[in-house]
Amino acid sequence: MLSIPHSLTGAFVASKFPNPLIYVPVAIGLHYLEDWIPHWDVGTGLSNGNRKKSTAFKLELIDLALTAVLIYFFWRTEPMILQIHIWAGGLAGILPDLIEAPRNFFNWEPAITKPFNWLHKQFHYSIPNWVVGIIPQVVVVAVIWLLK
Ligand SMILES: [Zn+2]
Repeated sequence: MLSIPHSLTGAFVASKFPNPLIYVPVAIGLHYLEDWIPHWDVGTGLSNGNRKKSTAFKLELIDLALTAVLIYFFWRTEPMILQIHIWAGGLAGILPDLIEAPRNFFNWEPAITKPFNWLHKQFHYSIPNWVVGIIPQVVVVAVIWLLK
């Protein structure tokens, strides 16, 4: 999925359970679960050459910028200490993608990241139809907005 639903999920978990021993593993676990749902994201089409890496990289920067705006907007009234956990949870929510980013964008895959990237791939199910592939992500964001 895009960074937006992944990161908001991690931020949401952290907002409800502001303990990194809880929200970091839960956010990472939910990342794999969300990637298992058929979806469209900025990396869709990279492996078969339908999307250039430079395009995916630019789209990812937009994705990350929107993610930061939404985290700020959703939880801006929370106390500062809770906001620190919320931002950390947001970061944990995109950790599997951050670990994979050097491979995807720079053809560099340090050996230590290979098992994590292999695990990520087992769950990852993207589809080329962006309209259909956006729907589950909009649902995730809407549910978080309603529950937060
Ligand atoms: Zn992912």
